[in-house]
Amino acid sequence: MVWKRRICFANAALSAIVALPMAKLVPENHPALHTIAEEITQEDFESGMVDKLIKDLKSALKSYSVDGFTAVAIAAPQIGVSKRLFIIEDQSNDRDSLPCLVAINPEIIKFSKKTHIVGEGCLSLPNLYGEVRRHKNVTMRALDEHGNEYQRGAGGLLAQIIQHENNHLDGILFPDIAERVYTKEEMESDDLHTVAGG
Ligand SMILES: [Zn+2]
Repeated sequence: MVWKRRICFANAALSAIVALPMAKLVPENHPALHTIAEEITQEDFESGMVDKLIKDLKSALKSYSVDGFTAVAIAAPQIGVSKRLFIIEDQSNDRDSLPCLVAINPEIIKFSKKTHIVGEGCLSLPNLYGEVRRHKNVTMRALDEHGNEYQRGAGGLLAQIIQHENNHLDGILFPDIAERVYTKEEMESDDLHTVAGG
């Protein structure tokens, strides 16, 4: 996709002269949020693009939080890079904090039959919340930051986040599949407080 390559080139040129500006979330109407992202290639690993993308995603994640809850996951399309990569990085030190992981070219290879409706938010849609039907458990296969393949099973919140981030790589935002969508104001008046976002 031409628009994406342009962004990459612009960044490369800039980095030669000045420190890179922090990666920013792109607005909701940005094409990367509505496009099926491209697979990461061997060349992307070798060129340093993957390392840089992970660094940019980590710094973006650290600098955004939505109304008091810290973001724990972010996908490349959210910073305008239409590539199949997301990270989960929980900065809290709670006992129940999520594992940190990098998922490159992820694929959900198993979905539980059991589903449930869960509250959901998204860094890219700061004013919206929704109720989304998600599989309770999933198994994901992906590459890590070194290009090594791994598989992991996940349940509960982690399974929800993995499904949400995989949706981003397919150009799907949660309102596209939600059973109900609320604005922030409706949410506050409805007393719904359990949301996950990424
Ligand atoms: Zn999201």
